[in-house]
Formats: sequence, C-alpha cells, structure tokens
Amino acid sequence: MKPKLFYSRQEMYELNRDKLLERGVTILEIAEIAFRQQSRYNKNITMRACIESVEKILSFRDVFHIVQLGAEIDRLAEEGMFQGPIQDIIGYDLGVFGIDEILGLDIARLYGAIGQTNFGDIDVNKPGIVNRLNQLGKEGSGVCHTFLDDIVGAIAAAASTRVAQIVSEDEASKDPRYEAIQLDI
Ligand code: MG
Repeated sequence: MKPKLFYSRQEMYELNRDKLLERGVTILEIAEIAFRQQSRYNKNITMRACIESVEKILSFRDVFHIVQLGAEIDRLAEEGMFQGPIQDIIGYDLGVFGIDEILGLDIARLYGAIGQTNFGDIDVNKPGIVNRLNQLGKEGSGVCHTFLDDIVGAIAAAASTRVAQIVSEDEASKDPRYEAIQLDI
C-alpha cells in the first residue's frame, strides 16, 4: 500500500490532539498556560482565544512533525528502545541535553522573538501542566517526558504570542485608516 505522507490541516490537528491526549495532555491545559502568561499583559484576553490559538497551532505542519516525533521519542525511551548512551540521557532527562529545547524553540520561533522569550519564561517557571509533566518524568519513574514538556510549553508560548498579536490587530483596527486584510496569524 502507498504510504501516507501528506495530511490535511484538519487531520494534523486531530492527530496532534489525540497524540497529546495519549500522553496525558489536554488542549485546555495548554491554553491555561497561554492564558496565565498573556493575561499578565492584556486584561481583556479570553480563554476562548487561547484555546482557538492552541488548536490552530496544532494544525501547522511543522508542529505536527515535532509533536509526533517528540512523543514517539519519549515513548521509545520509556520502552528502552534506544541503543547506546542516548537511551539513558533521554530516559533520565539529563539537564544539559538540549535537543528537547531546540524542538521547543523551533515551535516558539513561529511567533518570532516574543514567541521565543515567552517559551523561555515557561521553560524556567514551569507553570501548570509543564510542571506536572516534568515531575512525572523524573528519573527512575519509568515515565519519560523529556521532549513532551518542552513541546507543550512551546505550544503554550506560541498560543500566548498569537493572542497578543490578535489583540494588537484589534487595537490597530480602531484607527479610521485601518484596512483589513485576510489574516492567517
Ligand atoms: Mg525537556
């Protein structure tokens, strides 16, 4: 049978949502981090906007590849499937192993410099589900969240930044000279 390589935005969204659920993460939990982060700067943002942003980001092809790959790396490490030093390095979530952060940064970069600094904030302060994933994946537990915690934090950072961009566009639209274009933030 011909392999399936191309997925629609809807399919990528659904596969990502299901993969995250399989690994114990809901869209709502990611949106909560985005809401908590962005509501420090914008009092008028809504959970709805954060949820919609997470859903949109989960439909991006680059994010699809990273979520699917990262979740599989964690699962394979849990099952002891890697050979050589990388099995323990990933399995024990070695602090100076930075490939998980690189994948997180790649997602955050979709929303520019602010996306990346927002990811840094979440990476350091570990709010909500990021902290739970990190704690559950601690060495010796048999659970590996080495990649997932960064990926989830980065999706939250991207969603938070997207909400800020929507707020900026709303502000701009109050100017009588404003001209709307078809947006795909
Ligand atoms: Mg990590």
